[in-house]
Amino acid sequence: MGDADLNKDRLELALEAAGLDLWENDLITGEVTLKASKTFVELGFSEEEIASDLQGIYGLFHPDDLGKVKKAVDDHLSGRMPQYRCEFRLRSKSGEWVWYANYGRIMDGKSSTPGKRLIGVTFNIDDRKRREGEIEQINRQLTEQNALLQQLNAALALLAANDSLTGLSNRRTLMELGVNECRRAQRFGHPLSVLVVDIDLFKAVNDDWGHLAGDRVICAVAQACRARTRQGVDTVARYGGEEFVLVLPETDTAEALRLAESLRDAVAALQVVVNDTGGTARVTVSIGVATLHLGDERSFEDLVNQADKALYQAKETGRNNVQCCAAR
Ligand code: GH3
Ligand code: MG
Ligand code: MG
Repeated sequence: MGDADLNKDRLELALEAAGLDLWENDLITGEVTLKASKTFVELGFSEEEIASDLQGIYGLFHPDDLGKVKKAVDDHLSGRMPQYRCEFRLRSKSGEWVWYANYGRIMDGKSSTPGKRLIGVTFNIDDRKRREGEIEQINRQLTEQNALLQQLNAALALLAANDSLTGLSNRRTLMELGVNECRRAQRFGHPLSVLVVDIDLFKAVNDDWGHLAGDRVICAVAQACRARTRQGVDTVARYGGEEFVLVLPETDTAEALRLAESLRDAVAALQVVVNDTGGTARVTVSIGVATLHLGDERSFEDLVNQADKALYQAKETGRNNVQCCAAR
């Protein structure tokens, strides 16, 4: 065996072991001087069907990849890239797309300019591409699921913090915010007022109009409270069935009483539509007021209890009424 034959055998062994399919094109005649036949056999074509010219091969490329392939060839032939490499899909005989890669170079560019032999190898990268595709798909799904989880978490946080009927803060949120506001007022020596608002003789509304009508009245009173408070500063909470608590930072007794009177007035003027035939219910509220003053060390709970005592007095005094308990 001569050296040339031995080298050919060595090359063939190396190509086979690496899964590479060698091809060669004559750039001057456009002729395919060595066909990448293994690739086309792998794609299910018979020897006779194997395309012998470049056009025939291009006919098997995925239309979305063709431009990329032509550009890669062009980049190398024009000297912009030191080698020709690209990834693309080829259509199998049965019509499936299979991923391949090409790696090639003009082999005689130095001896004859411009070079005339473009030699390269084609190899199957379908497994890798499919895995990449699957990972991309999984990542996309994960991103979507994360966005959904964030939305759900935000919705859950809102549900956990707010009363479902009125949308006001619930009792738990009130206690958390109230404790913080109380500490802040004490640290800076600022006043803080608390109002406890209770709908008068509310049982009668339920009895006269039904429970759903009662719910509408609760919502209307909740809205009246909200409308008289500063967004982002005051806290309005549904404390119990027909009872509300307002926490008013930077508000002394005189201001708190003014606000309570205005709220009492507004509720008394409300005509709440409670059914589809236009029936309206009217209610009044009683309000207890308590204020934390300079040097006052009481807890938020103490403050609410004091306002609750004032509310009791307002009920005793005939309802539709505002009362304020003297501190301690
Ligand atoms: P008072 O002036 O002394 O406060 O009398 P009242 O009837 O308002 O007081 P009471 O505490 O005896 O009654 C409150 C009623 O509120 C009893 C309960 O059935 C009703 N209630 C509590 N929660 C809801 C609710 O979410 N919706 C409706 N429609 N009614 C509720
Ligand atoms: Mg009541
Ligand atoms: Mg009550």
